[in-house]
Amino acid sequence: MAESSDVVLKGLLEATNLSVCVAVVSGAAREARRRHGLAPVSAALLGQAFAGAGVMASLQKGDSRINLQVECDGALRGLFVDVGVDGSMRGYVKNPLVDVELGQAFRWRAALGNSGFLSVLRDLGGEYYRSSVELTAFELGGDLNRYFEISEQVKTQVALGVAPRGDEPLGLVAAVLVQAMPQGNVAVLERLGSTLQGSLDAALADPAVDGADALFSRLVPGLVVTQRTPARFQCTCSREKTLSMLASLGKAEIQDIIDTTASTAVTCHFCATKYEISFPDLLGLMEQLTKNDVKN
Ligand SMILES: [Zn+2]
Repeated sequence: MAESSDVVLKGLLEATNLSVCVAVVSGAAREARRRHGLAPVSAALLGQAFAGAGVMASLQKGDSRINLQVECDGALRGLFVDVGVDGSMRGYVKNPLVDVELGQAFRWRAALGNSGFLSVLRDLGGEYYRSSVELTAFELGGDLNRYFEISEQVKTQVALGVAPRGDEPLGLVAAVLVQAMPQGNVAVLERLGSTLQGSLDAALADPAVDGADALFSRLVPGLVVTQRTPARFQCTCSREKTLSMLASLGKAEIQDIIDTTASTAVTCHFCATKYEISFPDLLGLMEQLTKNDVKN
C-alpha cells in the first residue's frame, strides 16, 4: 500500500443527522516509525494517536490544528501529535523503544501504565482551547471517548485500531468517529457507539478491507463520501526556524556554544530532522543579535 493512500473521509447519515469520519493513516504511522526508530508498541500507539487526531481535525474548519498529548507512568511515558485540518501530521513518543507483550484484556496497559492524562489542544483560528481527562481506559480510543464525554458538548463516539497486513504490523492504522450534528439522533449514536470498536476491529481483521474507502463502506454501507482529505506525515520545522529558536536563547548562550563546541546540532522532536549549525552560522546569529541590540 503506497503512503499516498492515507486519507480522511467524511460522510453524513442524513436520516439521523450523524456525521461519520474515517481516517486511514498507515503511511504516516510507518514514516514516523522510520524517522524515530520506533519499536512495535511505540509505533502502534503513535499511529493510533495520528488516526484519532486525524478524525478529530476533520471536525474543525479553516487551517487550524489539533494537538493530542498523553502523559503516563507506563513504559511509553507519553506521546504528542500535531495534526492539521489539511491532513498534515507529525509527532513523537517519549520512549521510542516500547516492545512489551500486550495482554488480551488490558491490551495497552503494559505500555501506558496505571495513571496519566490525555489532553487535547485545539487551535480554533488563533484561539486555543485545552482540555484534559485522566486516563481510565488505558487505551487511546476509550480515553478519547471519555474526553468527548467530559469536555465536548457535542455527542461523539470514536474507535481506533491497528491491524497487520502481510508482514507489515502497521498494515492498516485507522480511526472512525461518529458525531451528532444539530438535531442528530443521539439514541442512534449511542447505540452505534457501543458497537463501534467491535465493528472497526472486525473490519480491520478482514484482509479484503485494504484501505480507507473499503473500511468506510464496510462500516457504513451505502454512505456517500462527501469530503476527502489526503493525509501525510509532514513537519513544519525548517533551518530558518531552528536558527531563530537559537537566536531566542540570547547572546550569552550562543557565545557559550561558540566557546565550548564551536558548532552544534539541533534535532526536531517531531520529525527527527537534524540541523547542523556551523561556526559561521553561530557568528551570523551573534552579529544579528548585536545589530538588534544597537537598534533597541
Ligand atoms: Zn521537524
